[in-house]
Amino acid sequence: YMSVVVIVIEIWMIISLMNRWFTGDTTRPKIWYIEHFIWYTTFLLSALLMLIFALLFLRGRVTNRVPGKIIMAFFSFVALYFGMSVSYSDYSKGEQILCFVMMIIFVMGLINWRPIVSIILSASVFKLFYYMMEHAPDHPVSYATKVNYFTLWISIVMLSLSVYSQRLSEAEKDESLEYSSIRDELTGIPNMYYFRKKAIEVLSNEGIDNKLFLFIDIANFKAFNEKYGYDIGSELIISAAKLVKNQFEGDLYARYSDDHFVVLTNRDNIEERLDILAKMLEEQHSSTRLSLKVGSYAPKSAELDPSIACDHARYASSIIKKNYDLHYCEYDDNMDDDFHKRQYIVTHIDDAVNQGFIEVYYQPVVWADNHSICGVEALARWIDPTYGFLSPAEFIPALEEYRLIHKLDQKVLEIVCLDINNGIKNKSKIVPVSVNFSRLDFELFNVKESIENLTSKYNVPSDMLHIEITESALTANDEKLMNTVQLIKNLGIELWLDDFGSGYSSLNVLKDYTFDVMKIDMVFLQRINENEKSRAILNSIVTMASLINMETLTEGVETNEQADFLKEIGCKRLQGYLFGKPMPIRDLRSAYKCF
Ligand code: C2E
Ligand code: MG
Ligand code: MG
Repeated sequence: YMSVVVIVIEIWMIISLMNRWFTGDTTRPKIWYIEHFIWYTTFLLSALLMLIFALLFLRGRVTNRVPGKIIMAFFSFVALYFGMSVSYSDYSKGEQILCFVMMIIFVMGLINWRPIVSIILSASVFKLFYYMMEHAPDHPVSYATKVNYFTLWISIVMLSLSVYSQRLSEAEKDESLEYSSIRDELTGIPNMYYFRKKAIEVLSNEGIDNKLFLFIDIANFKAFNEKYGYDIGSELIISAAKLVKNQFEGDLYARYSDDHFVVLTNRDNIEERLDILAKMLEEQHSSTRLSLKVGSYAPKSAELDPSIACDHARYASSIIKKNYDLHYCEYDDNMDDDFHKRQYIVTHIDDAVNQGFIEVYYQPVVWADNHSICGVEALARWIDPTYGFLSPAEFIPALEEYRLIHKLDQKVLEIVCLDINNGIKNKSKIVPVSVNFSRLDFELFNVKESIENLTSKYNVPSDMLHIEITESALTANDEKLMNTVQLIKNLGIELWLDDFGSGYSSLNVLKDYTFDVMKIDMVFLQRINENEKSRAILNSIVTMASLINMETLTEGVETNEQADFLKEIGCKRLQGYLFGKPMPIRDLRSAYKCF
């Protein structure tokens, strides 16, 4: 901008100079015109040079700043000298010194990125000009002029200082904005935005040789969080982030989400390095059993999208999630089919819900006494146009891992309410339906409100709906869940404990929650014929449940012997292939004359 201003002014000066010369102005000697012409063109050229450099620099054609600085110094020198000489000649004729002042302000504006330089420069230029003025013929410098002169210098110094500090604070603001856009808020280490951007650079600069993407998951974090609360959970994440940072210093790392981190590193000694990381984490939190589940993925092309690489590594880590002994797993090509199916599931759950690919199958539950139907369990099925029939074992873990399970469960609940409503309208026989809820549902949506809305929308009597929560998902002392569960019970809806005996916390959980029915996991039934102990254990579970006022239901009944034994020990309800597999509602209608 400065150079454009100077170029315009100088062209104008040259034109008016020429004009005066050619119109035969004889008040000045010829040499005066030549001298001024040289000055104007020098100033014009220095401004042109600066403009050209500035444009090239802004377009990225030149990256070296040194020539720019030289040009700027040259321009400043010419400007100051120009201002001084014009003003000095004016002053000696008794006129103003505006040109000098203008040039000083101009140059200070240009170089105020270094206040010391501009203060020293302006002070010496002022001093020099003052000295020249003192020696101007016939124009002694008065005291008033001296004072004016000094205050002018002070003001210019203040002006350039204030412009400098303004620029500085703007730059700091920009920097802190930039900082927060690439940092994770909680831990201060880079976020995924930064990771993706840098990973693309790393792969294209260094290639894919020996490179590994890691996905690090703190295995028992959810239990830790539930046990110690949110704040201590956050502290754990912060300390884990520090450890990742120290262990992978010099590599690219970031917080992925929750208790997950990603790293782009090289393969050398990777398992040893991860062992050290896991040990340090364990040492810091020795009171809890924390372990790491790390998945890795070796990129196959430098153009690979880092997000996809992280998804692959995440998949590898999810495979070992339930395996206590394994802490590290590298993605291999055999996992491709399952990986793609899982990615498909998490990216298509909305379509599945909206386009009717989710169906509800019903499995009968019978009285142990006479094997007549006393209820049904609603079990989700995904019948997909691409993959065909998908079983819950495939889509439920994926939806839980990506915190999308509520989309499915809300849909299932709605279908169940609609089916009950249709049954009532058709005056068919209705039996209670139990619906499975994931522990995560209670975090992801307002379960109580949703049940309340749907049951009132479809006129579902509260005793026709039961809620099943699987035992492995429950932890003792979870106040929030305990309260929600109580609110649901207050609606008149029974609460069933699913898969009792499959988790770790079985007995502890019983004292904190009030369940109406305990569903005993099918693992207990598997060997009752050969194993005396299995029978004794089942017997005691049923007795214990009745002591704490819970009814029992045993799942997975496949033979008459199992059914007889269960009836004998006092189990009230049975469910299993012996009585019926999960089936579409039309089959339930024809087989059981209900709904
Ligand atoms: P679950 O709630 O314990 O359901 C019982 C599972 O055992 C069902 O598997 C059922 O088909 C199977 N089963 C029933 N009787 C027998 C038998 O006699 N022998 C054998 N071997 N298996 C039997 P399914 O339908 O594959 O469901 C698996 C799990 O997926 C369910 O276990 C439940 O935890 C979950 N699930 C199913 N539908 C939903 C849903 O809508 N929401 C949520 N959150 N979870 C669901
Ligand atoms: Mg169930
Ligand atoms: Mg079950």
